[in-house]
Amino acid sequence: MTRHCEKQSGEAIEAGALDRLAPLATGAGRFAQAGRSAPIDSFAHVDTWVFDLDNTLYPASCDLWPKIDHRITLYMIRMFGLDGVSCRALQKHYYHRYGTTLRGLMTEHGTDADAFLSFVHDVDRSSLPPAPALASAIAALPGRKLILTNGSRRHALETARRLGVDHLFEDIFDIIAADFVAKPHEEAYLRFFDRHAVEPARAALFEDLARNLVFPHARGMTTVLVTPAPGGEDRRESWEIAHGREPHVDFSTSDLAAFLRGLSAR
Ligand SMILES: [Mg+2]
Repeated sequence: MTRHCEKQSGEAIEAGALDRLAPLATGAGRFAQAGRSAPIDSFAHVDTWVFDLDNTLYPASCDLWPKIDHRITLYMIRMFGLDGVSCRALQKHYYHRYGTTLRGLMTEHGTDADAFLSFVHDVDRSSLPPAPALASAIAALPGRKLILTNGSRRHALETARRLGVDHLFEDIFDIIAADFVAKPHEEAYLRFFDRHAVEPARAALFEDLARNLVFPHARGMTTVLVTPAPGGEDRRESWEIAHGREPHVDFSTSDLAAFLRGLSAR
């Protein structure tokens, strides 16, 4: 049976949508740090809005990323002729060690990137619902918007098109543009900054993986961790999930559309 993603909220800002340095697992404790400015002021200097794609522009509860994840396993089964359990373990080993499975396969086995990306992103996106609330919230942000993804441009375009947000972005910086150096490697961000003339101190980054915010935060970006909705299914791996306050996370939200809507109300 086809699983449908949770819809991006179009309702009024909910508790937890604007949590600054709140306990990430609960979404409680709004503006937990006394003396910190409200989010609407903290983004006043931002003129470049940068978004991760997978599990950020669409919810982590969606089945899209798991489909891609399984296609990666299938690709490796066909490539190595091994059983699924062995390939799954190898896949996660490469992902952990190199940032992406592709990088591991390219480095250790000379895998053709185009063939790999075409295969793994050949997934059914019909369970991904349009996100009009997110689209209008992104459209209302002052400045340019970019997608920064460890996936391919084609995957980002097709997914953004499905969400109804593709027309809002100036460009997509993908794993090919990064010369297959993936986030969270510093080089990936430096190439992105250079390619798109991004001044980190005037840019904000939205990401579902806290580790991908470390270097951007150190370079002056305002960082927002996008978390699964409270009680929602989280398909990320346990080591990928932040379980507490982290200094490189300026804000966290489980409702990206509501968070953005709050910022453009300035
Ligand atoms: Mg992501």
